[in-house]
Amino acid sequence: VDATRVFTRRGGLFKKAGKAVRAVDGVSLTIRAGETLGLVGESGSGKSTLGRLALRLVEPTSGRLLVDGRDVTGVSKAEMQAMRRDIQMVFQDPYGSLDPRVTIGQSIAEPLKVHGLWDGDGPQKVAGVMSLVGLDPSHADRYPHQFSGGQRQRIGIARALTLDPKILVLDEPVSALDVSIQAQIINLLQRIQRERGLSYLFIAHDLAVVRHVSHRIAVMYLGKVVEMAERDNLYRRPLHPYTVSLLAAVPIADVRMRNRRRTSVTMGEIGSATNVPPGCRFHPRCYQARLVAATGGVPTERSGDALLPRACLIDQPELRSCGGTDRVACHFPETPETRSEVATAVLQ
Ligand code: SF4
Ligand code: MG
Repeated sequence: VDATRVFTRRGGLFKKAGKAVRAVDGVSLTIRAGETLGLVGESGSGKSTLGRLALRLVEPTSGRLLVDGRDVTGVSKAEMQAMRRDIQMVFQDPYGSLDPRVTIGQSIAEPLKVHGLWDGDGPQKVAGVMSLVGLDPSHADRYPHQFSGGQRQRIGIARALTLDPKILVLDEPVSALDVSIQAQIINLLQRIQRERGLSYLFIAHDLAVVRHVSHRIAVMYLGKVVEMAERDNLYRRPLHPYTVSLLAAVPIADVRMRNRRRTSVTMGEIGSATNVPPGCRFHPRCYQARLVAATGGVPTERSGDALLPRACLIDQPELRSCGGTDRVACHFPETPETRSEVATAVLQ
């Protein structure tokens, strides 16, 4: 098998402030061997939750989780541990995930011990992963505070690699680092991927970072994947209005659109997962829905101040092919033939 599938359905239903939150809703991802799948969205989109579900760091309170086509929702603890070996996680803040009272050598060794795999070769394995990530193995007896932010992220990566996993879930792995250090860590991750044939799920909140590392990209909005495309396609011909908004050089709250009436639309904050809008969950912020309604030719309805296509208000769009393998969940996607002024401006 050359593909590992991570599939969650109605997976992330959490209790938050007494209210059920469907943080991840019917998401299916396929990550090929040796591939980086970028997962992008604003905070609150459910992307970290999806990563944690893949590792079972959180448990779905309803629904199923399938890995490699197999339902892993009910498997035993022992089986689950064996599976966990194949998927490891690197966090945004390595300092937060490293125990300050424990030497880094011990931290890196810990996964081997937890999985009962610590034996005579243990110290050699630790030295091996330390060298692999560019750390001096003779520094194994030092403590986390003795290292810089970039070095601490190398420690986090080494720790994730000790079990020789197939997939790394990288949750904003460079967001906390200086730009110059970001490039070093990204180069390191790319080299390790080439050498070991690893698959990465690379979670980030902006499209600029994932552009350099991803082969394909999935864009998430309020718990759903709204677009999934080959990297170059996503940047050259984004289909979903939300992707276009993310690609806009200006912050999303300032995206303005003009139509013949020179209406300007200022998009507000990401909605709340506790109160997902009906129909297309992006409709309160969508410039395209407003453009389409103003152009006429489709049934419309008023929603607050806005005139919107009725379809956007009542039908939840499902991910579907728009030619090729790319997928989009939108009733009025930005195809190259019908590209809006907004998308044209953003893509210049
Ligand atoms: Fe916008 Fe309608 Fe497409 Fe949703 S379905 S993204 S509201 S145009
Ligand atoms: Mg997050």
